[in-house]
Amino acid sequence: MPTLERLRRLREVLDRRQPDLTVLMENVSKPHNFSAILRSADAVGVLEAHAVHPTGGVPTHHKSSAGVAKWVYLRVHPDVETAIAHLKDRGFSVYATRLSDAAIDYRKVDYTRPAAVVLGSEKWGVSARAAALADAEIVIPMLGMAQSLNVSVAAAVILFEAQRQRLAAGLYDRVRLDPATYRRVLFEWAYPEEARRLRSEGRPYPPLDGEGRPVWSSS
Ligand code: SAM
Repeated sequence: MPTLERLRRLREVLDRRQPDLTVLMENVSKPHNFSAILRSADAVGVLEAHAVHPTGGVPTHHKSSAGVAKWVYLRVHPDVETAIAHLKDRGFSVYATRLSDAAIDYRKVDYTRPAAVVLGSEKWGVSARAAALADAEIVIPMLGMAQSLNVSVAAAVILFEAQRQRLAAGLYDRVRLDPATYRRVLFEWAYPEEARRLRSEGRPYPPLDGEGRPVWSSS
């Protein structure tokens, strides 16, 4: 059972989660990059990240993730078309990070609106298909000798610009999750084993009291 202090901490983090900010990792193959991106996503309040991977799975989490995978949901899609359609259906504008002439400076984007940032593989970058489906291509200007950044560094630079804009707009000052999602996520974070058991039995989660403790019915 989590302590009241722990429940308070979980609620504090959930209060700042941003359901309309996310990343889509397209074939990011190195576990340490994958984990580092999730860690930055957690730090800016991403609730759910997205991935497509040729193996149909995702790179194994490296210990550098500091267990962050527990706090950022990961939705794996079979291909990039499905992933981008899913995001657009949910109202996200999709921004493909690309070192191309068509790309605009990443700071020109309004990240206070629903935004999904597509990150490409270490070797090949974002695919032409993903770029064609995206609403815009964005780039972090490179003024030195290196042609590109490490993918997790690029992710952090863009996500923290999104965080800067959202802080300025007051989006971390009020709860952004709808009440049902808030209760569901709080239960899954606070009582992961219980949540797994109830899901496997096809049973609903119990209501939570004001502190986040489950209220089990006596029937
Ligand atoms: N040869 C690849 C290419 O041309 O795209 C380089 C891939 S780069 C090492 C891996 C990923 O990091 C890219 O797909 C992109 O998501 C991100 N990235 C790296 N540098 C970037 C930059 N300057 N602007 C935007 N994204 C960048």
